[in-house]
Amino acid sequence: MLLGVRGSTPAPGSDYIRYGGHTSCVAVLADGAATPTLLMDAGTGLRSLSGLLGSEPFRGSILLSHLHWDHVEGLPFSRAVDHDDARVDLHVPAQDGVSPRDLLARMFSPPSFPIEPEGLLGAWQFLPDPASPSSIEEFEVTAVEINHKGGRTLGYRVATDSGSFAYLPDHAPSQGIAPDVWNLIDGVDVLLHDAQFTEAERPLSDLYGHATVEETVEIAAKAGVGQLVLFHHSPVRTDDQLDRILELVESPSPLPIVVAREGMRIAVGG
Ligand SMILES: [Zn+2]
Ligand SMILES: [Zn+2]
Repeated sequence: MLLGVRGSTPAPGSDYIRYGGHTSCVAVLADGAATPTLLMDAGTGLRSLSGLLGSEPFRGSILLSHLHWDHVEGLPFSRAVDHDDARVDLHVPAQDGVSPRDLLARMFSPPSFPIEPEGLLGAWQFLPDPASPSSIEEFEVTAVEINHKGGRTLGYRVATDSGSFAYLPDHAPSQGIAPDVWNLIDGVDVLLHDAQFTEAERPLSDLYGHATVEETVEIAAKAGVGQLVLFHHSPVRTDDQLDRILELVESPSPLPIVVAREGMRIAVGG
């Protein structure tokens, strides 16, 4: 379930209601599960996790793609994870030989923030990249380093016996796509991919290390994915503009494509 679909910064206001203004966060439910045990990123969309869990705590793992604000800012603002009975295994992409805890503390400690990571309630583990592949909760997870800007960034493939998806919310394909990244996304049932810019905005896309809608569609078609989810929308892309974003894709579309929307549930595989 998509809890936040924006990039860079939240987008509040009447022009952003239908697609939603929260930044990147995806809740993943195992087959037959009533509640999520895996979260992709922890942007401000994480605040909506309480709506899925009621008053219950989150008990599971969070995989961060990278440490930009829009992917971590929700961590201290979700009652579901900041809860006495929560259990959170938080995987932080390694950077510069600094421990996962200390990387978080660069953002979450005074004077930037009132508390340090240890101030979060519940049982937290601050962990590095997951080994690839590894079993995390009910899922087999593979992580691969991908091109972006400003810090090490991971793309993920998450699979069960019944299906697979890949998650690359911030990705600069114009800097090159390594063979292991092609392998990561090859043939997944669902690909959630950076679509922050358009080809008409190519200079901005290259400047900030992102992807365009058009190149994302091309990559997804080449990788033979089952369904593409255009994700990580620009915070200035209005609902009306997102309604028309698929007009940029050639007709007929080379594969099924949906535009990520907050609250959207996406079935993966059979
Ligand atoms: Zn981002
Ligand atoms: Zn980023």
